[in-house]
Amino acid sequence: MTVLVTGGAGYIGSHMVLALAEAGENVVVIDNLSTGFSNFIPDGVPLFIGDVSDENLVEGVIAAHHVDSIIHFAGSVVVPESMRDPLGYYRNNAMATRNLLNVAVRCNIPRFIFSSTAAVYGNPDHMPVVEEAPTRPLSPYGMSKLMAEIMLHDVATAHGMSYVVLRYFNVAGADPLARVGLATAGATHLLKIAVEAATGQRAKIDVFGTDYPTPDGTCVRDFVHVSDLVQAHRAALGYLSNGGPSTTWNCGYGRGYSVFEVIEAVRRVSGRNFAVQQADRRPGDIMTMIADTRRIHSAVAWAPQYDNLETIAAHALAWEEKLLQERRQGEGRVATG
Ligand code: UDP
Repeated sequence: MTVLVTGGAGYIGSHMVLALAEAGENVVVIDNLSTGFSNFIPDGVPLFIGDVSDENLVEGVIAAHHVDSIIHFAGSVVVPESMRDPLGYYRNNAMATRNLLNVAVRCNIPRFIFSSTAAVYGNPDHMPVVEEAPTRPLSPYGMSKLMAEIMLHDVATAHGMSYVVLRYFNVAGADPLARVGLATAGATHLLKIAVEAATGQRAKIDVFGTDYPTPDGTCVRDFVHVSDLVQAHRAALGYLSNGGPSTTWNCGYGRGYSVFEVIEAVRRVSGRNFAVQQADRRPGDIMTMIADTRRIHSAVAWAPQYDNLETIAAHALAWEEKLLQERRQGEGRVATG
């Protein structure tokens, strides 16, 4: 029996594939490599390059590899980009998921795990936010993920599929052995920007808003290490295999850190004192976003190993240094070649 990981060459998907392969599970990947990298896939794991909306491709992979579970990461994930290109987001996140579900139903796939996001909540009334909170996305990104959640729910009800929706909070860090990490060009996430500053690739980091009514005036987020996040997916697979009913889980640590705290953590672990500049608030930013994690912890034995901001920062930094070194070696080869 095999797990199909869509988007398995991307940031989170590649960590998932490594974890499954290490655990001795059969795994197969579909990825169109729009933001992923084929060299992130370990030897022995089949990679099919194509879109999850390509029903013939997906059906062929499911049949050839005896797929019985799907973990669906493939999609677009940049909030500001979704504001500029809403139709692209509805295509990649909503319509593509609809096609994938169509094939999953046709092939009687019993288990489906879906990557969703805390962005489905919009600006919650209460913090930490519980899964039952109203869903009021502020961006096409959040809306497109919510649409996929709704489709999954309806399909599961009609066709007897079981699912777990994982709503991610701020995913950060990298594989502790630095085999994979966030490599997508133009990433805008805070920790990525901070480690780029710490490694001298940026002159400074802008802090978007220092006048929020929070303890230090900056926004607060619940950062979850990518390796812990993928273990939550493994726990979800086990939960469904044991007959657990369809459900939705927040996936964070339930603790918030401010933008300034993140920057300080990166300064400490790197030993480098890069420039920090106060800037205007970024439109659409939510002030505080922290997960209420009681539901996941009551359903499965998920034991995060890297629930520590400095550890997350250190792993992000080690990965960034590796990327930088590889890039310099590549440039050296071009210069001398
Ligand atoms: N942020 C910042 N400077 C940056 C990037 C991000 O001050 O260069 C802030 C951003 O305004 C937000 C927080 O860091 O308050 C987290 O942003 P990120 O884009 O990492 O994730 P989001 O919570 O928006 O999904």
